[in-house]
Amino acid sequence: MLAETTVPTQAEEGPGPAVERLAAAVRELVAAGAPRLLAAGVGAPGPLDLPAGRFIGSPNLPGWDGFPLREELAGRLGVPVWVDNDANVAALAEARAGAGQGARVMLYVTVGTGIGGGLVVDGRLFSGANGNGLEIGHVTVDPDGPPCGCGNRGCWEALASGPALGRLAEQRLGKNPRSPDGRWTAAGVLERAEQGDAAARALMEEYAGWLGLGLASMVNAFNPDRVVLGGGVMKRYALLAPAMEREMRRRALAANAAAARLCPAGLGGRAGLIGAALLAWDGLAG
Ligand SMILES: [Zn+2]
Repeated sequence: MLAETTVPTQAEEGPGPAVERLAAAVRELVAAGAPRLLAAGVGAPGPLDLPAGRFIGSPNLPGWDGFPLREELAGRLGVPVWVDNDANVAALAEARAGAGQGARVMLYVTVGTGIGGGLVVDGRLFSGANGNGLEIGHVTVDPDGPPCGCGNRGCWEALASGPALGRLAEQRLGKNPRSPDGRWTAAGVLERAEQGDAAARALMEEYAGWLGLGLASMVNAFNPDRVVLGGGVMKRYALLAPAMEREMRRRALAANAAAARLCPAGLGGRAGLIGAALLAWDGLAG
């Protein structure tokens, strides 16, 4: 990493000003002495139309539907641009430079406000037909489960994302005495569990079971030799791992479970950044 900077997306202002801010930030880095710009890589929230480099109705980016990100950014920077899903590029980074190094089939799972995934096979990212492969958070795990932001119900992320743990705590534990508004967050529950609180610990184990249940299906579907777990919730990997792994091994086919080694992500919040750069690197290399 030679240089880095951060600018807010300010998505509500629309894609035009955001892409302009992005291009300006890149120009500033180059002006500040970074080497000549050859290409750019972008990890963007899905859903995407990857062949066209466009957004398709992203729930987190209202008004961005159809925006041709790749074309707009390439026009402003004057270099070729590669775009992929943000979880996919983070997977690429973990496989090449993080906790997935040496794996042949690496499944990356990110657990935070949602659940995302990426698959890297023999060093190459699998993105699906139009960039929306490995949308593993939207695999149905309970047909009558809670509603999901995607419009379905009982998706894995509706039961096993960070906010899902917060909701579970509100139902079971009542108000959070340590929070001014009485609300629970995943971090709040996990902190209490770590301190040995029995109720928080039981809730954490139940939640980790939902994580393991979904992982069992992923391990059966993709037969990875490494499963790398990242995202905000997985900062507490050591706490969640025993119950999560037990449930995964209990449900997965024995041969698939035997092949799969679980481990925490190695690059933290920088995985997306590094992965996007690798995407451009690979793109240039052809
Ligand atoms: Zn969903």
